[in-house]
Amino acid sequence: MWHVAPLGHGTQSFTFAGRADAPAASEFAAMLPRKESNVRLKKLLGTVAVVLTLAVGVTGCGGSRGGAAADSSSTAKPSDSLVGISMPTQTSERWIADGANVEKSLKDLGYKTDLQFANDDIPTQVSQIENMLTKGAKALIIAAIDGTTLTDVLAKAKEQNVKVIAYDRLINGTPNVDYYTTFDNYTVGVQQATSLLTGLGLLDKSGNKVAGKGPFNVELFAGSPDDNNANFFWTGAMDTLKPYLDAGTLKVPSGQVKFEQAAILRWQAPVAQKRMEDILTSAYSSGTKLNGVLSPYDGLSIGIISALTSTGGYSTGSLPVVTGQDAEKGSVKSIIAGEQYSTIFKDTRQLGAQAVKMVDAVLKGGQPETNDTKTYNNKVKVVPAFLLKSVIITKDNYQKELIDSGYYKASDVK
Ligand code: BGC
Repeated sequence: MWHVAPLGHGTQSFTFAGRADAPAASEFAAMLPRKESNVRLKKLLGTVAVVLTLAVGVTGCGGSRGGAAADSSSTAKPSDSLVGISMPTQTSERWIADGANVEKSLKDLGYKTDLQFANDDIPTQVSQIENMLTKGAKALIIAAIDGTTLTDVLAKAKEQNVKVIAYDRLINGTPNVDYYTTFDNYTVGVQQATSLLTGLGLLDKSGNKVAGKGPFNVELFAGSPDDNNANFFWTGAMDTLKPYLDAGTLKVPSGQVKFEQAAILRWQAPVAQKRMEDILTSAYSSGTKLNGVLSPYDGLSIGIISALTSTGGYSTGSLPVVTGQDAEKGSVKSIIAGEQYSTIFKDTRQLGAQAVKMVDAVLKGGQPETNDTKTYNNKVKVVPAFLLKSVIITKDNYQKELIDSGYYKASDVK
């Protein structure tokens, strides 16, 4: 019987709907303006003068710096407003598509844009955002590499009255993030585990339990521990798999059932491949058969499948059930070919549209629509969010969901 890692595992903590941790009183205190009731008028006037001087200095320097934005946001025309778009990497198709969608939709509304990809390097992302502020960006749409590393640069954004939208990944540990748009990340994890169970035959296509199957050997992978989403995916998946692990219907021969053991820093495919190879060598070399792999991202699934066909000796026609996420073209091809079993489709067109609606609303002085004000506590505040729905993709429905919906052309995945 396997003990499943308790909630809150990993280097980032996280919360669930209705169970958001309240920040500690000291954290709130740090956010509050200093008490002025005991400040003498003279000192207060002196402070105001300094602030005004600084504001004039910032405005005067470079003409269009964001410091001039104080309360001009509600009146600015889109064509006067630059929006910075900071994406983590170009090594995954989804972020390229995200960047392109967001940029195009903003331009269609008349906004100026500055789209940057940070090559999964934190200092690069920070300096790209600093540059956007220097250029006078009025709003930022940010998919963080590491959700905890943007506190200083976002403090600068706040000074310049720049609105900040967290895109797909929550930005942690700062009050200076206004809104968040993402998918329901806990449900993404549930869907990943559900498709593993379906692929193994423990659930039927309608999600009903099938009795008398198993036990099956599975191995578990998690995403990057510095990405807030990775914990949500893992927890959604493990909550779903736990009854099967507890009952012995699923076994994990490597014994690696904790988030820290399963996590793959920066979602790197070669790291996942190496971990799969090591597990195959240590826990499967005496002929034990592996039946399934929980993989949280298509890039990792590709590395895992390479390890299975090389070190594991599995033929592409009889691979274990391997899950994924993002419906990247290579993985959809693999699903059509009967190799990878499933992926999770997160329509980046919808996510991009939502982020752009948020920016447009805040820059016009309005309030964007949100549908979740409980789940995403970034340790300083609960960030109001708009959550989108994701879809499990297998060979059975890729045509309808990905091709008929116009997300891909049939030729993209042939
Ligand atoms: C995203 C996933 C993606 C992963 C790796 C996560 O933050 O939500 O869609 O698979 O990053 O890029």
